[in-house]
Amino acid sequence: MSQQLSNSFLIELANEFGTPLYVYHAEKIKEQYQKLLTAFAGSNTRFFYACKALTNINVLKYIKEIGCNIDCSSINEVKLAVHAGFAPENILYTSNNIAFSEIETAQQLGVNINIDSISNLRKFGQKFGHTYPVGIRLRPNIMAGGNLKISTGHQDSKFGIPLEQIDKVLEVVKETNLRITDLHIHTGSEIKDVEVFAKGIEVLFEVAKHFPELEVIDLGGGFKVAYKPNDEVTDIDKLGRKVKEEFDLFEKQYGRRVEVWFEPGKFLVSEAGCFITKVNVLKETANTVFAGTDSGLNHFIRPMFYGAYHIIENISNPNGAKRNYNVVGNICETDTFAENRSLNEIREDDLLVFQNAGAYGFEMSSNYNSRFKPAEVLVRDGKAQLIRKRDVFEDLLKNQTF
Ligand SMILES: *Cc1c(COP(=O)(O)O)cnc(C)c1O
Repeated sequence: MSQQLSNSFLIELANEFGTPLYVYHAEKIKEQYQKLLTAFAGSNTRFFYACKALTNINVLKYIKEIGCNIDCSSINEVKLAVHAGFAPENILYTSNNIAFSEIETAQQLGVNINIDSISNLRKFGQKFGHTYPVGIRLRPNIMAGGNLKISTGHQDSKFGIPLEQIDKVLEVVKETNLRITDLHIHTGSEIKDVEVFAKGIEVLFEVAKHFPELEVIDLGGGFKVAYKPNDEVTDIDKLGRKVKEEFDLFEKQYGRRVEVWFEPGKFLVSEAGCFITKVNVLKETANTVFAGTDSGLNHFIRPMFYGAYHIIENISNPNGAKRNYNVVGNICETDTFAENRSLNEIREDDLLVFQNAGAYGFEMSSNYNSRFKPAEVLVRDGKAQLIRKRDVFEDLLKNQTF
């Protein structure tokens, strides 16, 4: 982790903007993007930031500024991307059980579209025939990813059109004269093994034979980042070499060149973000010491939802003696951030920082227990900008009628 904000700077931000607080570091996002560009320099590759990881409009604008494209999971994300200034050709909408009306809206906006069901593919073909290029999201029946909750390509997964139904796809294509230019898979999140991507490539190359108008093979996202020291990560340099090798071979065999697309979410923004909380209450019990923070699973759900491990640092007492704590939230649920974690001695009002909070952190937050959603700050060129105000009481009542 070469780019890091100093503890004293984070303390300043917590004092200025209050806690709980999400802080994002722009240059770290750029550094991650550069790593991808370097690793895949040998092939015809484009990257689409899977923006569901973090959609603050300021972050989207920054992503655009560094030259990255964008992948969306809902029509509202597509609209946010347009709002952030992305050109339609740099926006991809990968669908997942969406209403056909959203696909029509995406078509009107002129963005790239991946369709994930035979029924929507048929509707698309009936309406647009050969006039608008479209991609197919396939389910390759590959088990991949950190755990079942974030695994999306296996044979019980709802995502994509199952590979074994490719004959039906071909029927629809023929019947409606569809122009299929993209084959897509996204097998899961936190894929550390290059072989998983290699398997995906193999599957798609086989399917590619049926699609003479193919221009793109889209391998989705899921690059793993380190959550703990010495954590295994996706070897993107190795993957870059593998992709080059495979796609060069593809070109020889098929006599034409296709682009490779990836949709990294976590890889771009996870390490760029941290989440700062304050310890309200220390509670010594027979079995453990609880450090009760001013946040909870309403603001940062990954530990409870996925069993995710996030490094926690006590930036108020970095040299304090180590002691074990259960770091918990203030929500009326069991909301444990970390169990039996060795941390520098915690005192009430100390600031705890959670690492790797850029992806699926704020984005999955809610107002549960009628708590305010946290504020967000973007640090760029050493300067902090408030990019989302903390909720105020009126926000809780905003859409309710009386
Ligand atoms: C969520 C998602 C991604 C990004 O996954 P990460 O694990 O964050 O890289 C990419 N593509 C699609 C279609 C997704 O739904």
